Amino acid sequence: MENYNPQKIEKKWQKIWGKTKLFRASDKSKKPKFYCLDMFPYPSAEGLHVGHFRGYTFSDVISKKKMMEGYNVLHPMGWDAFGLPAENFAIKTGIHPAISTKKAIKNIKKQLLSVGFGYDWQREINSSQPDYYKWTQWMFLQLYKRGLAYKKEAPVNFCPSCKTVLAREQVIDGKCERCNSSVEKKCLEQWFFKITDYAERLLNGLSKIDWPEKIKVMQRNWIGKSEGTEIKFEIRTSKFEVPVFTTRVDTLFGCTYIVLAPEYPSIEELKPQISNWKEIEKYVEEAKKKTEIERLAEDKEKTGIELEGIKAINPINNREIPIFIADYVLMEYGTGAIMAVPAHDQRDFLFAKKKNLPIIEVIKSVDGKSSIEERAFEEDGILINSGPFSGLKSNKAMEEITKYLAKRNLGKRAIYYKLRDWLISRQRYWGAPIPIIYCPKCGEQPVSEKDLPVLLPKVKDFRPTGKGESPLAKVKRFVNVKCSKCGSLARRETDTLDTFVCSSWYFLRYTDPKNQKEPFNKSRVKNWLPVDLYIGGAEHAVMHLLYARFFIKALFDQKLVELNEPFLKLFNQGIIYRKGAKMSKSKGNVVTPNYIFEKFGADTMRLYELFMGPAEQATEWSDKGVVGCYRFLQKVWNLQNKCQMSNPKSQNLTLEKSVHKTIKKVTEDIEDFRFNTVVSALMILVNEFEKEDKIPINNYLSLITLLAPMAPHICEELWQKLGGKKSIFLQPWPKYNPELAREKIITLVIQVNSKVRDKIEAPIDILEEEAKELAISREKVQKWIGGKEIKKVIFVLWPK
Ligand SMILES: [Zn+2]
Ligand SMILES: [Zn+2]
Repeated sequence: MENYNPQKIEKKWQKIWGKTKLFRASDKSKKPKFYCLDMFPYPSAEGLHVGHFRGYTFSDVISKKKMMEGYNVLHPMGWDAFGLPAENFAIKTGIHPAISTKKAIKNIKKQLLSVGFGYDWQREINSSQPDYYKWTQWMFLQLYKRGLAYKKEAPVNFCPSCKTVLAREQVIDGKCERCNSSVEKKCLEQWFFKITDYAERLLNGLSKIDWPEKIKVMQRNWIGKSEGTEIKFEIRTSKFEVPVFTTRVDTLFGCTYIVLAPEYPSIEELKPQISNWKEIEKYVEEAKKKTEIERLAEDKEKTGIELEGIKAINPINNREIPIFIADYVLMEYGTGAIMAVPAHDQRDFLFAKKKNLPIIEVIKSVDGKSSIEERAFEEDGILINSGPFSGLKSNKAMEEITKYLAKRNLGKRAIYYKLRDWLISRQRYWGAPIPIIYCPKCGEQPVSEKDLPVLLPKVKDFRPTGKGESPLAKVKRFVNVKCSKCGSLARRETDTLDTFVCSSWYFLRYTDPKNQKEPFNKSRVKNWLPVDLYIGGAEHAVMHLLYARFFIKALFDQKLVELNEPFLKLFNQGIIYRKGAKMSKSKGNVVTPNYIFEKFGADTMRLYELFMGPAEQATEWSDKGVVGCYRFLQKVWNLQNKCQMSNPKSQNLTLEKSVHKTIKKVTEDIEDFRFNTVVSALMILVNEFEKEDKIPINNYLSLITLLAPMAPHICEELWQKLGGKKSIFLQPWPKYNPELAREKIITLVIQVNSKVRDKIEAPIDILEEEAKELAISREKVQKWIGGKEIKKVIFVLWPK
């Protein structure tokens, strides 16, 4: 027998799998489909490190297992090739992004191939190629036709380092998602997608998909629906009204002033009546310089200034109240104005104390013990000092006061969302040009579909200008164009599309990547979508994962797709750390895959990525763990010597039982993403095999079939060495006999202070620690422990 030599067998099988088109999906198959998708990577010049392979290994294991279970599996790969990372790299190195991107793709593809991932490379897509971005532009036009793409001037987030505007979703804690610079606010004319039209459907759809709760919560909060009352505050001596949205209309009698955002649009118009205008102007200027984070900071002292000369009217009691502007109120939330109730809102409380404004208590706790001496009482309760509404409970009062206001046309029920429209234009070169023309006679004109793609011109100077326009504005042959309607000389839009537009529909293109007539054939999308399993990083929660859902809903309304949600199940892999930090070149803690391949082989790396810890948790990379996996594969290899080839009838009942138990465990645990326990179950089985002198061939074949999705090269080699004719991946997934796989079950009787409190079923070989944990976790047991410290746990197995 030869020694285990991964370098030799891995290259060999990668070639054969490619040649025999083993992992290609069929568009005509009668088998049930399974669409397994990885988030397509951006082609980074640094290539992939071992941390990047974790999610890809998970999706590959599941795809291979599904293939063996008889599914027609679609597992594609492509490149999110437009956008800031590629372009920023190009600017740094002076290499044109078209060239550096191409090089990076070649490198990463080689890396992916050398891990034995079974991608269907026939369907490879590249979002920076005209045959792809033609359809991205086409998608823009579809949304434009339906009024879902529009241009407006708005205060937007601008990254001074990337020299472009960003979507709100791409600003994280006040910083650019890409380069970490602090963003600035600028008022610019920009393109938006009207994602807000879909707020309610984006919320409702969440209940129909199997996604991590954490991601759903992030999307819910980002959409931020709140139900309440919109109230009109009239401004005495003017025709102005300030609409205010509140979820606590029950506290309206306690409203002693209102506050406007410094950007509030009609402040200018009130100028003639405002006596301290100079001061106001100065405050507004100061506010403009602050970031949203600074303005909202909890610990910051709240500043604000009264608009002297005008007063608002509290519509519930007709009292005159002062109007302030303060930078802690943002134009982007609600109506840009708030009613202040200092007795029942802590922020207002602090502001009122500082400015010596009246604090009127209007809600008491049910037990009557609440106080507003020290701080605001923010909970629901019973109304006091509220005229005819005194004595009502908060809930009832909200209803009644809203009705009262509505009758007098001073208020109405309202729903507000935090979600804002998606800003999609970028003042950057490396993106799909927005297909719009400005004609002096006809105005804004969409490029006609037959003229797509609007090609991105090749230019030497692709650096951003920083003047609020894209470098394309300097390219005359691009900018100057004839109006398709009247033939006049017109100008092209020079901004490009946010790359998140490219990635909002790429998973549809995989079903029909070569189609030149349309973005995809509808029946192909119907056959393959929705994506059954989507694997990728959690950092996309309110960006890509929200945008793609919006796109599908918009395409559904356009009758282009028949589905409502693109991704049925989502799994976020945990990050791999090394030396306590996320792997990155700048930190010098990167493990390159080539090093692992050369020393141990790709199968070892795959196995270790699966074994290192729970799949959804962040885990520390350990070189020792890698060696352990390598030794395990050597053991599997060496066991071939013990195979009883000639005597298939020989049976070893103990081994047979272990094999069936392992089949059951591996099958179920892969389904549940418990890859680490899958590997340990296989390790236990191999240890049992090692104790035997002879192993029946069937048992050994079961072992390598189970291991094949995880360590494909070694298993394929062993399979064929032992007489397999076709690929091991064309073998059916092993089935277990439930009778043989059954664990013996016992009943654990739990006593607390020598009284029986609960009974649980458990496997006979349960360990003391496991039994303890299980017992303590029971609700009934918890009730009797009642948070007290456990002095002693006694674990007894009575012999039968
Ligand atoms: Zn930036
Ligand atoms: Zn025209």
